[in-house]
Amino acid sequence: MTAGGLKTVCRQLGLPPYADRQLAEWLYNKKVSSFDCMTNLSLDSRRALGRDYYIGLTPPAGKQLSRDGTIKYLFPAADQHYIESVFIPETDRNTLCLSTQVGCKMGCVFCMTGRQGFQADLSAGDMLNQFVSLPERETVSNFVFMGMGEPLDNADNLLECLEIMTSSYGFGISPRRITVSTTGVIPAMGRFLSETRCHLAVCLNSPFSGERMSLMPVEKVYPVRDVVGFLKKAPVERQRRISFEYIMFRGFNDTPGHVNGLTRLLNGLRCRINLIRYHPVADLGFQPSDDETIQWFRKRLNDKGIVTTLRASRGTDIMAACGMLSTRFRYFPGANTFE
Ligand code: SF4
Repeated sequence: MTAGGLKTVCRQLGLPPYADRQLAEWLYNKKVSSFDCMTNLSLDSRRALGRDYYIGLTPPAGKQLSRDGTIKYLFPAADQHYIESVFIPETDRNTLCLSTQVGCKMGCVFCMTGRQGFQADLSAGDMLNQFVSLPERETVSNFVFMGMGEPLDNADNLLECLEIMTSSYGFGISPRRITVSTTGVIPAMGRFLSETRCHLAVCLNSPFSGERMSLMPVEKVYPVRDVVGFLKKAPVERQRRISFEYIMFRGFNDTPGHVNGLTRLLNGLRCRINLIRYHPVADLGFQPSDDETIQWFRKRLNDKGIVTTLRASRGTDIMAACGMLSTRFRYFPGANTFE
């Protein structure tokens, strides 16, 4: 709950006016899992809270460890659903990739979550639980909302979660350590840019509309030209990073024409392109670009003045890399297996 939500709870239960701040301190700073631990609240207050509310901390129901150290966790969410989160340890940082929906409506053809279809939005609590109940919680340095779901298709709950993560009453995490990914849901991008200071990553994959539409049906509603045009006009502070995710498919979007198309499209926008190796997940007919082509593509973009990064593939052996998350099948925690 946000500070506003906690205040409402305290008012409704007739708790003292300062109890909301005490609650926030216990929940987000001390991270307690029971109202009984909140010793500076009166016994009556704790009883009233325990009668009407619960602290939604739920440990992971399953875990898979990759050869490269990446860990994929399975978390229960509301209504008997499950979601996946990925902890990615690196030498200079530890990144947690969080989910925002059970499944996804966007239907990107290269993505297992898209193929799963949409089951439910996660609450802000379900999003936060992936962090707070993570065994490696204290070592996480960076957060990316790039797991299951389109975060900006669940904007109300996402923004509530980001407020709790970044505010001083909440977890006090710097927004510079949080990146939210989107396929380009323009109205929610406006809210996101005005209500948070977190970084934004737009899933691009092609500068050409017809080609992008064949990968990402959202192009029909929010064409890439409009998405980039919106960002060019939006007031974006210098500290905020705008990046474009570009999954590289061999012979499909890794040609000289694509370098030129990207250069024209992004001209005048302060941004970077994050190149990602495609991880084949199904009978799509696509293959990943080879390393030589990726390096060539990267250099050509750099020569044109576009900053690029190349994301290392992590956790492919446990289906934890980009585009591979799915809880399509029911998970049996005891058996540590999926149906
Ligand atoms: Fe949804 Fe992201 Fe997968 Fe597209 S890539 S289907 S937006 S989870």
